[in-house]
Amino acid sequence: MLGIAGCAALGHAASLNGQWYVPVSDWAGANSLRPAGSWRGARVVVTNRVNRLEFEVDSAQSRINGVNVRLCFPVASVRGAPHLAQLDLDKTLRPLLSPGSDPAPRRITTICLDPGHGGKDTGNHVGGMFGRNEKTYTLALAQELRDQLKRAGFNVILTRNRDSFVELPARVALANRVGADLFLSLHFNGTPSSKNEVDGVETYCITPVGASSSNAQGEGSRHGPTAANRSENKSLQLAYQMQKSLVQTLRAEDRGVRRARFAVLRDATMPALLIEGGYLSHPVEGKKIFDSAYRRQMAAAIVKGILAYQKPASVPAKVKSTAASAAAPVRKRAVKPPETYKFK
Ligand SMILES: [Zn+2]
Repeated sequence: MLGIAGCAALGHAASLNGQWYVPVSDWAGANSLRPAGSWRGARVVVTNRVNRLEFEVDSAQSRINGVNVRLCFPVASVRGAPHLAQLDLDKTLRPLLSPGSDPAPRRITTICLDPGHGGKDTGNHVGGMFGRNEKTYTLALAQELRDQLKRAGFNVILTRNRDSFVELPARVALANRVGADLFLSLHFNGTPSSKNEVDGVETYCITPVGASSSNAQGEGSRHGPTAANRSENKSLQLAYQMQKSLVQTLRAEDRGVRRARFAVLRDATMPALLIEGGYLSHPVEGKKIFDSAYRRQMAAAIVKGILAYQKPASVPAKVKSTAASAAAPVRKRAVKPPETYKFK
């Protein structure tokens, strides 16, 4: 839990555990977002004509226009007022709410699909000795997705097209070598049978420098930039569209856009995602994943996610930059934290 202990408040902003935090009310005001309810409390919702953002104090889970997105740092309460980490304003909220402030996505012609695991690496396994392996279904999904993407006019390469073992660095190295425009690593989740009630879809993209990853083995924040950090905003925008499409199309549980420095993500020189398309271990979701009709639907959802990413206009992002200056609560301070409050 983040409290105010150890915090040096500076005007509106505050430093907590080495991170700059900004009051949600200041940032929202600078971006013409109004509270739907109270500013103070465990849950804060801000809206305008096109956006609805939901935050919870002491939680990194946010909801951005109906899609769950993990923040890099939990929302903190400072004297009862919810604060967002400056790093999330810069690396999570601005890229999602104002994708137009980044260069337009490169035209996608070649997509590299990476069916997770293979050969001696079975991935998740369910059902005992004669059970099922993740590697079988990641390959089946990749082959279905390849066919659909080709029909949509894309060039597609696979990191493996049979049950073979491929080292993790070789997978992303192939994508880099052929100059792929997108890299998608395909996986399915699993839990021990005692916890088989967990289900839902997750989409991972690279963790920004200075943040911890949101995967179970989050490796801490002391990591320098990797090749993937150069396209981290694009990867996040793609992850958002992908998660939205998967959740809506499959009516799956939304486990959110998440961050990780996975070996297959961190060296990618193009926007790159790792999709966890559901839990093999869940009694209902597992059965669906074993069904080719459901995988066809999942592949269609992934195609739709890519197409939505290519059209940034489809992302609700129309926040007037002119309104921000009038409402901007930023004031000169003796010690100046970073102050990029605005989306653009
Ligand atoms: Zn896997």
